[in-house]
Amino acid sequence: MILYSTNNKDLRVSFQEAVFNSLPEDKGLYMPVHIPTLDPLFIQNIQQYNLQEIALTVAHALIGDDIPQEDLKKIIDEAINFDAPVKLLDPQTAVLELFHGPSYAFKDFGARFMSRVMGYFSKQGEQLLDVLVATSGDTGGAVALGFLGVAGTRVTILYPKGKVSKVQEEQLTTNGQNIRALEVDGTFDDCQALVKEAFGDAELNGKLRLTSANSINIARLIPQTFYYFWAYAQLKTQGIDQVVFTVPSGNFGNIGAGLLAYKMGLPVKHFVAGTNVNDTVPRFLTSGTYSPKSSVQTLSNAMDVGNPSNWVRIQDLFHHNLDALKAMVTSYTYTDRATQEGMDELYEKYKYVACPHTAIAYLAAEAYRKDNPGAYASVFLSTAHACKFPDAIDADIFEKVDWPAGAEKLAEKEKQAAALSTDFAAFKAYLLTNL
Ligand SMILES: *Cc1c(COP(=O)(O)O)cnc(C)c1O
Repeated sequence: MILYSTNNKDLRVSFQEAVFNSLPEDKGLYMPVHIPTLDPLFIQNIQQYNLQEIALTVAHALIGDDIPQEDLKKIIDEAINFDAPVKLLDPQTAVLELFHGPSYAFKDFGARFMSRVMGYFSKQGEQLLDVLVATSGDTGGAVALGFLGVAGTRVTILYPKGKVSKVQEEQLTTNGQNIRALEVDGTFDDCQALVKEAFGDAELNGKLRLTSANSINIARLIPQTFYYFWAYAQLKTQGIDQVVFTVPSGNFGNIGAGLLAYKMGLPVKHFVAGTNVNDTVPRFLTSGTYSPKSSVQTLSNAMDVGNPSNWVRIQDLFHHNLDALKAMVTSYTYTDRATQEGMDELYEKYKYVACPHTAIAYLAAEAYRKDNPGAYASVFLSTAHACKFPDAIDADIFEKVDWPAGAEKLAEKEKQAAALSTDFAAFKAYLLTNL
């Protein structure tokens, strides 16, 4: 796999380089120079394969020989060791559940695959790889549980004190081993600023081998294509082959992976992006002008992004042709009040308890269906388990949450987190003294 930077079409880096750098120096994003098309026979017969087999075919087509098939298979079997079932709510509406991994959110796909790819490329005897990550909730849990026990790696997670949910905090702080949590007396932006400053600090970079587990890492994008193929395979078993996917979107990595799958030959009729009031992309699709703004806090807080970093990847996939993009992607925006109504409606209509992000996808799927009736399956993506968002869900509905088996055990574990101010010198001292 050879990659270029969206800011420099002539740059060429290897997959390994792109994984460890996360971002090119020019602050663009890495994209594959060549997007492979899968064998049409594979797509035609895709219902014969399971998720791991599909993942191996897709990953091998993208990555090529940078990781030999046998090693890639091992990485996938370890990383993608949970299902992503499509559940039909009615004959034309389905939900693709992406929360059956250890952190109960779809970010497990990206984080688990990336952690193992980094472990694979970290040669024996090499300096410990220090992963720094700031989280508003979901990313940190997926990264912590993804890297837990991966040899040659250590993860430091910064999270804003009192601003993550109970399950989220437990997932961040009860791991031990090679995972450590820092509870920052500040906001998510403060956490992010500390991590950013660490990456720019010469002394830290001299003493530690720092890397980011950023959502824009190419090794997080690739595994997110797997479940689009797998959802299609499951629907094909039911005789359905016309599919519209609706994706709750923040940084637009998830839907970006779906569009990459489409470019690789997955027959998708259309993509719909649902956003909360952080509506930079919906405004762009209407006006043709990209004008990012500061993020606003909402109930669907994992989507509170004012300047979606993956958007440029999608632009590149469509060669910056707005009409071509609009022919394939539609978007809708929802307020918190609408989001709550969406959660209520899902429960009333289908007895389905959804997290606020999932509810936005549901609403956008319904809006698209209303605007574009037809014989297709409308599949909306459920990106997190409802149990992670107690404060965003109506108490009567939250009572009906079907708790995952591991969640109770989490609560019994001891919290281990070091308290930190927003002062960079203190963070730096922590990193240099806790080696
Ligand atoms: C991260 C996240 C999203 C947004 O995904 P993007 O790839 O950033 O668009 C949506 N829902 C949940 C639950 C998330 O954790």
